[in-house]
Amino acid sequence: MKFQPEASHFIDGAYVEDTAGTPIDVIYPATGEVIARLHSATPQIVEQALTSAKRAQKAWAAMTGTERGRILRRAADIMRDRNRELSILETHDTGKPLQETLVADATSGADALEYFGGLGGSLTGEHIPLGGGDFVYTIREALGVCVGIGAWNYPTQIACWKGAPALACGNAMVFKPSETTPLSALKVAEILIEAGAPKGIYNVVQGYGDVGAALVTDPRVAKVSLTGSVPTGRKVYAAAAEGMKHVTMELGGKSPLIVFDDADIENAVSGAILGNFYSSGQVCSNGTRVFVQKGIKEAFLTRLTERLANVKIGDPMDEAVNFGPMVSEAQMNIVLGYVEKGKAEGARLVHGGARLDRAGFYLQPTVFADVTDDMTIAREEIFGPVMSVLDFETEDEVMTRANATEFGLAAGVFTNDLTRAHRVVAGFEAGTCYINTYNLAPVEAPFGGSKMSGVGRENSKLAINHFSEMKTVYVSMNDVEAPY
Ligand code: NAD
Repeated sequence: MKFQPEASHFIDGAYVEDTAGTPIDVIYPATGEVIARLHSATPQIVEQALTSAKRAQKAWAAMTGTERGRILRRAADIMRDRNRELSILETHDTGKPLQETLVADATSGADALEYFGGLGGSLTGEHIPLGGGDFVYTIREALGVCVGIGAWNYPTQIACWKGAPALACGNAMVFKPSETTPLSALKVAEILIEAGAPKGIYNVVQGYGDVGAALVTDPRVAKVSLTGSVPTGRKVYAAAAEGMKHVTMELGGKSPLIVFDDADIENAVSGAILGNFYSSGQVCSNGTRVFVQKGIKEAFLTRLTERLANVKIGDPMDEAVNFGPMVSEAQMNIVLGYVEKGKAEGARLVHGGARLDRAGFYLQPTVFADVTDDMTIAREEIFGPVMSVLDFETEDEVMTRANATEFGLAAGVFTNDLTRAHRVVAGFEAGTCYINTYNLAPVEAPFGGSKMSGVGRENSKLAINHFSEMKTVYVSMNDVEAPY
């Protein structure tokens, strides 16, 4: 098998296997062929990973931030040097077109390693004068062993978005990739070692939800960062609460994208395409409820369908292809179920809606118009290439409807009215908002959700606060006054 790694897990600087674990077949979504066979972690493997991380963490935290940062930046350089090889692996793991993986996966992971590596030397506490000579100083400390649990849509990126800030702060991480896309996190672990990271500070264990649960509940673990669905988030957050652990929850969404009459129509259509069909729609922050003001509706739908005629669906390894298969047969069937529900509940199918007659898990990009707020496709996260276009008339009306969801991950607005743009964004109940663009996530900017879409933020300087805590030291320069 072409993409078979040396072994399933990477612990303490080396590949480790335990064939007693449940098999995990890695399937290339473009063909359905098995490209690697791994094994879920047994309790012994989980134990090995946590013991190694616990042992390595103290010495790692005792290094200077600059030394830690240098290793992360070196890892970023190695990832960039190997971008093509890593992208080919990512394409086989996820089915995403090479055209995308070359610019959005290892490159985004490298950005995180570089950014947090650069911050390494500046992670400090502060000095707080109190008058009369007394003062407080704070010490920024690592949390200890952190667990990262990933989803399957951006495996390399997620492994690095969690690993880089954790390691920069002096933590060790045990990372469990999604069982659907387990291959690329192993490469991240290998590259960190090659960059000079001490053994054990970034271990990777494979497995299904039970392995994730075993990691989350272990008393040695201080923090859990999950990227996944809301139902999984609920379970993981509750389990972490038992041990009063820190959490970051990056969960699902059903984000609104509002297009006003005065918007630049080409840009709005581009935003809707990026926000619904990139990675075959398997992006958490997608703007899947596209509210289009009545005056521009027909023109918007016409341009959208014209532009969708240019989509190039096919072999994801062909760099001209810009739309690949779904990650798995199961996910494809979930999405097809939603398409049927959309039709049954009265939405008007204006584009796509079918599986392609070829090997692999290919769906057409799909657009429904005349969608109403009560329809299932307008309420539930589909996580596939299905855009719902909804009509609206006034700003007040659309804001109420846009926010009428339990999710709050992202939201976007297209308009040429400057004051309206900022007013609308101020009214959005969402963690990540866009004006006249959609779905960009640079490492310098905080990323995360409100409401049921999550807790905490990834990326930016804010992520540091989620992977470290402050120790407060009160220093008295005076005699101690006691009442008796
Ligand atoms: P999922 O919730 O099924 O699984 C996520 C991860 O959690 C997997 O690694 C899985 O093995 C693990 N897991 C499952 N049960 C667990 C348990 N009880 N304890 C510990 N770990 C457990 O999600 P998925 O299908 O892999 O990914 C799709 C979802 O992820 C979508 O809802 C999407 O919106 C979300 N997502 C969010 C972001 C974000 O940044 N907000 C990014 C990507 C994906």
